[in-house]
Amino acid sequence: MLRGPLHDRGPDGLCRECGEPFPCPTGIAIYEAVKRALEHPRPPPESTLRSADARGPMTILLVDHDRELLELLAYGLRRAGLESLQAHDGATALRLFGEHQPSLVTLAMNLGDSYGLDVLKKLRQHSRVPVIMLTAWDREEDKVRALEAGADDYITKPYSHRDLIARIRAQLRRSGWVRMDASP
Ligand SMILES: [Zn+2]
Repeated sequence: MLRGPLHDRGPDGLCRECGEPFPCPTGIAIYEAVKRALEHPRPPPESTLRSADARGPMTILLVDHDRELLELLAYGLRRAGLESLQAHDGATALRLFGEHQPSLVTLAMNLGDSYGLDVLKKLRQHSRVPVIMLTAWDREEDKVRALEAGADDYITKPYSHRDLIARIRAQLRRSGWVRMDASP
């Protein structure tokens, strides 16, 4: 059953995300796309090893045990012109990171096989890739531990999709992937 951060109804009866009367066409389109993606999962991407200094196409690695949330995220990113890979556990996240050298990582705390904080620490042993924690864990001590372990940003669920895209763009700009004047 599909649930999760689809577009939200605001107190005025309009969508919080796009301002259309709720339920909005964009929210419904996202719901349909995510439902299709969950019913017909794509095979995991082929391994494409390349050297660490060769900048390939910009890719974002999304890590969360919640497949539905990842499909929603991937859909939203695609609409914003950003390609992504998905990992549902820590081991897959580290493997895909090594194979694809993504430009940014979003990381949940609860990964089923491990904790996001442990994956973050392993990434930080050999990479300065921007990492945005995207998690339901909203205790201040979790946030502090993640930032001290090298996370660049910490966003708690439920999050605003537009806010998330803006923060991803900010991190990509900071690391030189996206120009300041790039259109959203
Ligand atoms: Zn909407």
